[in-house]
Amino acid sequence: MMLTQLIRPNIKALQPYTAARDIYNTNQTNYLFLDANENPNNNGLNRYPDPQQTALKQRLAAIKGIQTNALIIGNGSDEILDLLFRVFCEPNKDAVLIVPPTYGMYEVLANINAVNTIKVPLTSTFQLPVSAILAAATTNCKLLFLCSPNNPTANSFQAADVETLLQKFNGIVVIDEAYIDFSDTESWLTRLDDFPNLVVIQTLSKAIGLAGIRVGLGMASAEIIALLNRIKPPYNINQLSQEIALTRLENIPLINSEIEQLKQERKRLIKAFRELKVVVKVHPSDANFLLIEVDNAAKRYQQLLKLGILVRDRSQELGCTNCLRISIGTPSENNQLLAVLRQLAK
Ligand code: PMP
Repeated sequence: MMLTQLIRPNIKALQPYTAARDIYNTNQTNYLFLDANENPNNNGLNRYPDPQQTALKQRLAAIKGIQTNALIIGNGSDEILDLLFRVFCEPNKDAVLIVPPTYGMYEVLANINAVNTIKVPLTSTFQLPVSAILAAATTNCKLLFLCSPNNPTANSFQAADVETLLQKFNGIVVIDEAYIDFSDTESWLTRLDDFPNLVVIQTLSKAIGLAGIRVGLGMASAEIIALLNRIKPPYNINQLSQEIALTRLENIPLINSEIEQLKQERKRLIKAFRELKVVVKVHPSDANFLLIEVDNAAKRYQQLLKLGILVRDRSQELGCTNCLRISIGTPSENNQLLAVLRQLAK
């Protein structure tokens, strides 16, 4: 597979926008900044942010053990997913392949970009049907989305299956690792050098606890990252988000202890759910949420809602009849949920 064959012709020919601040760092004070039509009065936020997010990128690349040119930062990982469509998928011509039930934005983004979605359902144990995926992948199928751990099923895919797809799928394999920090399975980041068609997506919205600042990560070969950089909005990560992310990443032990607590709570909730009358099945989870099958999802969802507890009813998803998806909260929130569910059981 040659990367150049996958790129949309208009993107190949594109002359990218050059931001005023592309070539130097705003932190340097020995310039008169008369280049970007800003308000010159200093209030701490009157300047455009660093379009390359240099400091944050250096920090994240060091944490992930990759080069900075293998990383793009997006306004949430949703922005990076959208950039992938716009670099590789020709509207009204190309296709992408998804394996439902999975994260809903892949199909929504395909629809927004007028790109066809090929769907190959996961097996009954929510694993990858490798031969069926390869058989369904048409020549104009540019992207394959694998979410592992998968939302909403909560499990990780078997590494051998993912590896086969990385070897045999004739396009870009996007592995969405939004929930990887809650899993004991290894990230595919360590394999970037082995697979030129691999894109790994991660986010600061989950384990890192910064959903409010919208920072997502795309990691791939320097060639793919350069393509995504060509089309990203110039100042896509605002200054506050860059600063807050850097501050939060100074305290890795705190982040790790929060992840540990969530994993403990996951274990406790699984055990407690299994003892509830309304629960038929608790699916194994590698994420910070549980997919549970209940006796009547629509009814239980409404009852919880009336009592002020919001969960997701995923019953409409393939293979998820009567399933609720429940995020793991703080110990006290989880206790409140359990108390309510025990009441419902009576
Ligand atoms: N991927 C998956 C699997 C998700 O569940 C989510 C958010 N729910 C995202 C990506 C998007 O995350 P964000 O845009 O906050 O980085």
